[in-house]
Amino acid sequence: MALHYDLHSHSTASDGTLTPTELVSLAAKSSVDVLALTDHDTTQGIQEAQKAASNTALTLIPGVEISVTWNARTLHIVGLNLDINNTELQSGLASVLEFRNWRAHEISRRLAKHDIHDAYEGALQYANGDVISRTHYARFLVEKGYCKNVRDVFKRYLVSGKPGYVSGDWASLENAIGWITQAGGQAVIAHPARYRLTATKMRKLLGDFIECGGVGIEVVSGSHSRDEYYTMANFARLHDLYSSAGSDYHGPIHPWIKLGRIPALPDGCKPIWELWDDEQEAQHIR
Ligand code: AMP
Ligand code: MN
Ligand code: MN
Ligand code: MN
Repeated sequence: MALHYDLHSHSTASDGTLTPTELVSLAAKSSVDVLALTDHDTTQGIQEAQKAASNTALTLIPGVEISVTWNARTLHIVGLNLDINNTELQSGLASVLEFRNWRAHEISRRLAKHDIHDAYEGALQYANGDVISRTHYARFLVEKGYCKNVRDVFKRYLVSGKPGYVSGDWASLENAIGWITQAGGQAVIAHPARYRLTATKMRKLLGDFIECGGVGIEVVSGSHSRDEYYTMANFARLHDLYSSAGSDYHGPIHPWIKLGRIPALPDGCKPIWELWDDEQEAQHIR
């Protein structure tokens, strides 16, 4: 029987709204067999998620979504099936979180110049762990009535050219893939269609990614359209990459994305889970 995979999701350890336990429980109820928890720049939620999964038939894949700066753009690289105790991975993530924390204060300083005060403290109330995200700022600004929803806050305050935007100095592509690989995991480009790259830039990205040891791209993603599944499947085939599939679930706060509601990969894709060994695969089968 085909298993249901959802290999991209967030918890309160980053900018999701469900705790790792709540997320795993919802996934199990939603007929997900294999769930990857891929919080932004942290693996802090993994242990709790694994514990919750041990009481269910669900297999939890330890993952992370690393923020990367590549050619002056921010990209997200998902790492799957990692050893979260790996020291290279953890010291790498610590360096990314250091930038993230500095950026959080800088966002606050910039918003203060626009008469929005104490935004750092406000955002912190929405953050649960070490990760302070623009999403937490957005929730605070909605609470304070600056905008009616999170999307509007991004549009008016938090994207390039807007008052609270701070450009990225995240991990290099090479380092992010290196940390993932050293931790025994697979590096996957998250939601590649979202970067709006020309075909030439996309080929350049895939070339650099493969050279650094990347092995897969998300073909099916909660942030891709149906047409984009096919475009990305073509890139995967052309570059002989594995394909991944994930909802990028952040909680019921985004009701248009459902956990585990993942269409099948287009024909001809090599699923990334083929790389996972037989023993682990055997555990997945109920
Ligand atoms: P950060 O990594 O702190 O810069 O925040 C990025 C996160 O903000 C993403 O992972 C999304 O969850 C969220 N995000 C980015 N752009 C938007 C947007 N336009 N509307 C709503 N959420 C967004
Ligand atoms: Mn997010
Ligand atoms: Mn992302
Ligand atoms: Mn994500």
